[in-house]
Amino acid sequence: MSFTPLGLSQALLKAITKKGYTTPSPIQQKAIPPILEGKDVLASAQTGTGKTAGFTLPLLHFLSENPKGKFRPIRALILTPTRELAAQVYNNVKEYSEFLNLQSAVIFGGVNQKPQIARIRQGVDILVATPGRLLDLESQGVLSLKRIEVFILDEADRMLDMGFLRDIERVIKTMPTRRQNLMFSATFSKEIKKLAHGILNNPVQVEA
Ligand code: AMP
Repeated sequence: MSFTPLGLSQALLKAITKKGYTTPSPIQQKAIPPILEGKDVLASAQTGTGKTAGFTLPLLHFLSENPKGKFRPIRALILTPTRELAAQVYNNVKEYSEFLNLQSAVIFGGVNQKPQIARIRQGVDILVATPGRLLDLESQGVLSLKRIEVFILDEADRMLDMGFLRDIERVIKTMPTRRQNLMFSATFSKEIKKLAHGILNNPVQVEA
């Protein structure tokens, strides 16, 4: 199977070809169609399965096909447990959006806030973030999540293991209730199912 039948835009197919991908991975084949339909998705996928492209490609498709004009509110939030993962996801977002008119940024703790604040002030459609720095900048009024249309929780199990449940709940309170939610996790404990139940509406479940 090629990427063509998935219905992604030409600009995305160009970026995919540039990356050298010819076939969507199993998680991509299963997750991309329901995400493109605007459904909430609960995906079980380990690192290395191609999960990042699995949520990033349909996200970029939706945002670029539904532009919001010059003023750029943050329209999508990708929350990750660690700064390493945030940086990795951000690199993917940058690569796949090379031929699109979309701006993205990454924020995480342990480094100076100033360059991150300056970047956000330039206008960002997609924000990749770790919870602590995100809440810090939100409470400072540097950024607002009131215009979020798509919320992605990556490696949800690691989030819980690292004690981010309260932070996730706090983040959710700052977003509009009407939004698309995508949750990716390698494992499915009782706690994960409970978190999924609280975040997702009628989710389509997919497995790698
Ligand atoms: P991830 O599971 O998102 O960390 O991706 C694991 C690796 O697979 C990354 O290096 C991706 O660049 C690569 N990858 C993702 N999708 C594909 C694909 N359809 N074909 C080949 N490689 C891919």
